[in-house]
Amino acid sequence: MVSRVIPVDPFDLVIFGGTGDLARRKILPGLFRRYCAGQMPDEARVIGAARSEMDTADYRNFVAEAIREFGGGRACEDGTLADFLKRLDYVAIDAKGEGGWRDLAKRMRPKVVRAFYFSVGPSLFGDLAERLNTHGLTDDGSRIVVEKPFGRDLGTARQLNRDLAAFFDESQIYRIDHYLGKETVQNLMAVRFGNMLFEPLWNSQYVDHIQITVAETVGVGGRGEYYDRSGAMRDMVQNHLMQLLCLIAMEPPSRFEHDAVRDEKLKVIRALDPVEPHHIVRGQYEPGVEGAGYREAVEDARSRTESYVALKVGVSNWRWAGTPFYVRTGKRLRARMSEIVVVFKELNHSIFGDGKDHQNVLSIRLQPNEGITLRVTIKEPGPGGMRLVDVPLDMTFADALGPEGEDPPDAYERLIMDVIRGNQTLFMRGDEVEAAWSWTDPIIAGWEARGEVPKPYMSGSEGPGDAVQLLARDRRVWREVKA
Ligand code: NAP
Repeated sequence: MVSRVIPVDPFDLVIFGGTGDLARRKILPGLFRRYCAGQMPDEARVIGAARSEMDTADYRNFVAEAIREFGGGRACEDGTLADFLKRLDYVAIDAKGEGGWRDLAKRMRPKVVRAFYFSVGPSLFGDLAERLNTHGLTDDGSRIVVEKPFGRDLGTARQLNRDLAAFFDESQIYRIDHYLGKETVQNLMAVRFGNMLFEPLWNSQYVDHIQITVAETVGVGGRGEYYDRSGAMRDMVQNHLMQLLCLIAMEPPSRFEHDAVRDEKLKVIRALDPVEPHHIVRGQYEPGVEGAGYREAVEDARSRTESYVALKVGVSNWRWAGTPFYVRTGKRLRARMSEIVVVFKELNHSIFGDGKDHQNVLSIRLQPNEGITLRVTIKEPGPGGMRLVDVPLDMTFADALGPEGEDPPDAYERLIMDVIRGNQTLFMRGDEVEAAWSWTDPIIAGWEARGEVPKPYMSGSEGPGDAVQLLARDRRVWREVKA
């Protein structure tokens, strides 16, 4: 397959928090891979900015190390690292102070795309937006990229939106949800809206239910303090799982264009039913063979924060009324797996009378082994009459698309290039984020008011038993959590 990488326009990208974990693990290695792929033009420049005092040579060494550690095999081999590093610069800046801003202004070039990546805690977003403005660093074409968490409830998200809107137009603000940058997530839209096959069946008349699972094997790790204030609902459901649900449930937009797509996603969020208490399962992992339990990890023996949550969600519109969406996410589960599964209804009459349930199942796997599988029913080969068997039609990208399918660009790579191209389709709009919090807040307020304690589950298991019951009550079962 021929690669069709189109270089983006020349740009100056300033990464505030350019020495942080996200910059080191994702942003800088991602930029390097795009450079190797030929997507970054020679005139592109990347300027790291943080409080640490270092000069450009130190920063280049720092970035080289990060790329060696996280750069990803194939891209690193062809000796282009030294060339890439020449495009890097560094300015010591305090988001809350005045030092460094003039220095930064001097390094910015006219007539190139200006993008500012806020890879710092959200408490600094307002300061950065204001100082960029007062130091005259931005123009109408400049873009800012902001990371999650975008607020911890509706009130704080609104405030962040106001802080940014004071200096930037919505068309300049790129709120990242890196799940939207995943190859399979975009493929989900291609499958839905690029094929005649699925769309006529994509409704409550033919779809029995939908499952969305994001399972992690890792615990809270070094993020204990942050995580304990957040929990699975805020950290994962309000943003990542919500976005996946939107892409599955939304109406076809009239064009694959930023506001058309985001309008449709917003309508889904607004159609979500409040979630009944008995449709919520929260869990907290217990110690396992290999590590500490949740409360030990966050150093709070009385923590009631959930490391697992499962919900049964209803979407009240003509397309989906009556088809439940079951969503779950958790840490320290049996396997790392992100998957969306669309389970179609059983035939209303089987002419074969084999007495078995055959359901078509479309599974869209985000990780590992990105790909799409459709389970279909066929005749079991050989003599012995008409015996039916369910088999997968497999479209694992690595098999179907060769080397390109094997190593798709990382979500961050794609999203950063979209920022430079000025394409907001895969970024969240301010009203979307607020609507997502409007739905999430009462769920959290509800369990807090009821004083609920999360159910314990074994590290390395599939989560709390109550989550199994959540589906069993509806005569359904979760897909097995396996890599
Ligand atoms: P981090 O490792 O703590 O890095 C924070 C960065 O901000 C450092 O470069 C720090 O450098 C800089 N910084 C802190 N205070 C500053 C100030 N007053 N002025 C200028 N720079 C300042 O955090 P991170 O993990 O990279 O996360 C950054 C953001 O991305 C956060 O909002 C986080 O929630 C989000 N995020 C992170 C990940 C991830 O995997 N790490 C994933 C999703 C979202 P100095 O101390 O030298 O100033």
